Amino acid sequence: MVRGDLELVPLYVVIAGLGINVHSDATAGAITLTYQGREASLYHKKSLASVGGELRLLSSPALFEGGQWLVPVDGVPRLLGPLLGKRAEWRPASRVLIVGNVAVPRVGVTTFVSGDLVRVVLEASEKVPFRVLQEEGRVTAAIPRDAVEVAFSQERLTGGIVDLVQYIGGPENTLSVTLGRRFQQLKAFEQDGPPRLVLEFHAIPTPTRAVRDPSPSPVPAPTRAAPPTQAEPSRQRTVVIDPGHGGDETGAKGPGGTLEKDVTLVLARKLRSAIMNGLGYQVFLTRDRDDEVPLDERTAIANNYKADLFLSIHTNASRSHGANGSEVYFLSYQASDEESRRVAMTEGAALPVGTPAPAGSDLALILWDMAQAEHLEESSALASRLQEELAAVTGSETRGIKQAPFRVLVGAAMPAALVEVAFISNPEEEKLLASETFQNKVVGAILKGISRFENDQARRAESLAPAARSASP
Ligand SMILES: [Zn+2]
Repeated sequence: MVRGDLELVPLYVVIAGLGINVHSDATAGAITLTYQGREASLYHKKSLASVGGELRLLSSPALFEGGQWLVPVDGVPRLLGPLLGKRAEWRPASRVLIVGNVAVPRVGVTTFVSGDLVRVVLEASEKVPFRVLQEEGRVTAAIPRDAVEVAFSQERLTGGIVDLVQYIGGPENTLSVTLGRRFQQLKAFEQDGPPRLVLEFHAIPTPTRAVRDPSPSPVPAPTRAAPPTQAEPSRQRTVVIDPGHGGDETGAKGPGGTLEKDVTLVLARKLRSAIMNGLGYQVFLTRDRDDEVPLDERTAIANNYKADLFLSIHTNASRSHGANGSEVYFLSYQASDEESRRVAMTEGAALPVGTPAPAGSDLALILWDMAQAEHLEESSALASRLQEELAAVTGSETRGIKQAPFRVLVGAAMPAALVEVAFISNPEEEKLLASETFQNKVVGAILKGISRFENDQARRAESLAPAARSASP
């Protein structure tokens, strides 16, 4: 019921079921509510009410009309809270009155600042929806739920990546993060137990080390000092590793019950440490837990990070139990042979059934496809280096690199390859895949392959550099 711009609700509707005794004295123009010895009184055409002997101001007068009492909605919690001795909250967005023991999720906000990273974590006492929006100069994290208690007001941060974190509330319980001049990219993800939203704000990285060989041989000092340059500092090399499958989508299953999705995650985590420690790169995984991630999203993650390399890790399966060894693929429209087509189909079937295609997805697919097309030569070189190194540890000299239309590689806007580490369908290789020794060998081989590829690329860039230098004024 709306009078002018005031919203009034019949009092009996609000207090129904709460066990409140009501005594209405129409001639005196007053109504008294009692609950466990406490009293609250409202007066006709008066904005003042009394609760437990104290006066409370309502946003508009209470009215006694047509035999019923009407009260301004936002005044209801101000009356009922003290009367009931319980928490009472009015949520205007959803017009819900929350009284008493209704669990209101609490959300705490913590911030963490280090050199090139700011982390803002929203931790909830129970599962709540989060929505992240990146706008010009700021990022907002909303919790679109009626009742949420956010224990945070604001915090200024130093370091220039994030300037201010502020809770602005509103109908969607919004937290606003004001970005600083050093901000470069946002990574947002959710975690369980306790439910959290993690926002990582990455800085424009400081200049990086040159490509290093992971072998322990001492690195010779540069013979001449690099000329001072005005060029922007080169960014830190970034690799995105994609542990194949996850969640309900388990991938292939070995005869002993080993699941591909578990093996790929273990290998990806090991590989992350190896690349970070061995090459000094930053490394991100498309999933760091047992989660189902759509194939297109996996490359989208790599694109968002502006990764220099994308590597999808899988284990192979074949009807023939004797099939063994590793295979490394890069993308093509046409499979290089019938078996490669079958492998691509197997991995490609990982698209969740019934997922509606986003609007314009055909066009997006073509554009992304062209993005990977630009990198096919490098992807082929990457696949070769990986296969050469893997062959030594998995005994698959003859298999060579292959091409197939893998959905997960289509969107990658950087050199990208897919590694089938070994055959999980082969009982012997299944045992190997589960062994730490073999896992470490595989990780070492992939690291060496990446390192060789990177060195080749660096040499190529160097040989092109003089021409570029003489061309500049
Ligand atoms: Zn797979």
